[in-house]
Amino acid sequence: MGNLVAIVGRPNVGKSTLFNRLTQSRQAIVNDEAGTTRDRQYGKTEWSGHEFSVVDTGGWVVNSDDIFEEEIRKQVMIAIDEADVILFVVDVVNGVTDLDMEVASILRRTKVPVILVANKTDNHNLQYNAAEFYSLGLGDPYCISALSGSGTGDLLDLVVGKFKNEPEELLDDDIPRFAVVGRPNAGKSSIVNAFIGEDRNIVTEIAGTTRDSIYTRYDKFGFDFYLVDTAGIRKKNKVVEDLEFYSVMRSIRAIENSDVCILMLDATRGIESQDLNIFSLIQKNQKGLVVVVNKWDLVEDKTAKVMKTFEDAVRTRFAPFTDFPIVFASALTKQRIFKVLEMAKEVYHNRTTRIPTARLNEEMLPLIEAYPPPSNKGKYIKIKYCTQLPNTRVPSFVFFANLPQYVKEPYKRFLENKMRERWSLRGTPINIFIRQK
Ligand code: GDP
Ligand code: GDP
Repeated sequence: MGNLVAIVGRPNVGKSTLFNRLTQSRQAIVNDEAGTTRDRQYGKTEWSGHEFSVVDTGGWVVNSDDIFEEEIRKQVMIAIDEADVILFVVDVVNGVTDLDMEVASILRRTKVPVILVANKTDNHNLQYNAAEFYSLGLGDPYCISALSGSGTGDLLDLVVGKFKNEPEELLDDDIPRFAVVGRPNAGKSSIVNAFIGEDRNIVTEIAGTTRDSIYTRYDKFGFDFYLVDTAGIRKKNKVVEDLEFYSVMRSIRAIENSDVCILMLDATRGIESQDLNIFSLIQKNQKGLVVVVNKWDLVEDKTAKVMKTFEDAVRTRFAPFTDFPIVFASALTKQRIFKVLEMAKEVYHNRTTRIPTARLNEEMLPLIEAYPPPSNKGKYIKIKYCTQLPNTRVPSFVFFANLPQYVKEPYKRFLENKMRERWSLRGTPINIFIRQK
């Protein structure tokens, strides 16, 4: 199970600089595709064989200069609830401030491992300043310079050393994992309850781990899958629910541990930044997607035209990824809730699609010949062969070219669209790589 590291601290101590340090190299590899917008707050990284996620709590504050103490306090509480390790960043140049003490007093009460990071230790002399951070009562301050990178390697060793080695849950790998995600009040608990109903026999809690399991098995009406994090959906923290940061933090674990995400939107509201943030997390993790426009019972005008308008709006906001199912449903009246599950099942299968190499070349090569990549400085670009990579998380394809560096994003998108027209890849991301022949 993936670990989650949260970076907390008052503004300007260097949280975002540290976040970039910890995630950058990896980001460059993962984000081969078009740039994603919300890179600052959530990233994935790897260190000595541990893959984990990093969240910069400061990234959620629009204007760092007038953050209220109260908001930082809430963010720290959310971080404690969700993270496996907390990096509490302080600034050796400025020393201890009231806000640092406030944050420290919350962190002292948690069981989650906290690492006190004394940032901006750009030279040895500054190390002596760090001694004053002992007064925070969180043990040894760990001196780094996020700007130069000094000390960050050792810090990462320390971080991964704090991860708990929990046994893997005994899950059947052939059974899909669905996560219901969305912002507060979109109807997540309602739809999960609608699936489960009063019939306790439909779900089984998975035993065998130290932490409360985040999976329940659902096996009825021709469906068999794990619901991820349903306990998390039931347990609500009303105090902080209004914070955008909260709904995103709550979604990370569920998304990371799923195959397909059921993203709940509220039909009575437009698509807002929270929806986009959660969508972005799904994309970054390359999960399958089914969008549910919930509370459809509340929409008076249910004509095909209105549906189409709604659908177009959703696809426009989520572009360039637009090939996913959208279901207009009501968790309250249970209208089309099984359709949601059918779609999730279909997306799961699409995510495991295998296209035989011969078929792939038969279909794609004539097309490429008819519409070749644009030549570059008079040099012709030829693609002679393509194949699907084995054992990947999502369908991934390699196209071999004489000059791969000149095959640009728009052409890759063209290939992707053509593949989506030919094979059932709805709801799943795919990867297209161009390599040297
Ligand atoms: P945040 O508000 O906590 O996310 O802080 P930022 O990462 O935006 O950093 C605030 C300022 O401190 C920026 O001007 C950074 O360049 C600077 N900064 C961050 N880390 C270091 C460091 O290790 N040394 C020095 N000298 N400056 C740093
Ligand atoms: P969550 O925060 O995403 O888990 O949302 P809840 O399931 O708690 O639902 C929030 C509110 O919306 C509750 O008052 C629900 O009764 C209501 N609600 C959820 N789904 C529907 C729906 O399909 N139609 C209507 N009319 N109300 C709904």
